[in-house]
Amino acid sequence: MSDVSEIQEIKLGAEVDAMCSKCKLERGHVITAIVDGEIKKVRCNSCGYEHAFKKKAASKKKTKEVSTDAATSSPVTTAQYERVIGNRDISEAKPYAFSTKFAEGDMIKHATFGTGIVTAVKDDHKISVMFPDRLRLLAHDRTSI
Ligand SMILES: [Zn+2]
Repeated sequence: MSDVSEIQEIKLGAEVDAMCSKCKLERGHVITAIVDGEIKKVRCNSCGYEHAFKKKAASKKKTKEVSTDAATSSPVTTAQYERVIGNRDISEAKPYAFSTKFAEGDMIKHATFGTGIVTAVKDDHKISVMFPDRLRLLAHDRTSI
């Protein structure tokens, strides 16, 4: 999501995303008036309402960016967990230890978190593991923590 994608060609009849004051939603609009190279008026593709162009409030969303904590530990639903674990025999889970090397798809048994499935190997020493409650980032293949 770079700023480059926001740049659209400003010309009559071109499409632009804008807030529709009737739909109260962000909709595709057609530019109907341009003043000094700035979009002045647009017509909503959904309801046909022509109104002054309002720029999107793009900055509002940025304050709610996913924190590092949420990225390394995000909630998992029972359905997600069951889909990943499938009908595997959980008695085959390998006991988790940070010194053990795991691969994607490995089933592990963690003393605190329970049985999990390695969903991804992040780098040489980190694995993403889905436990019944959360996705967690764990260390692996290390000599010390
Ligand atoms: Zn509309």
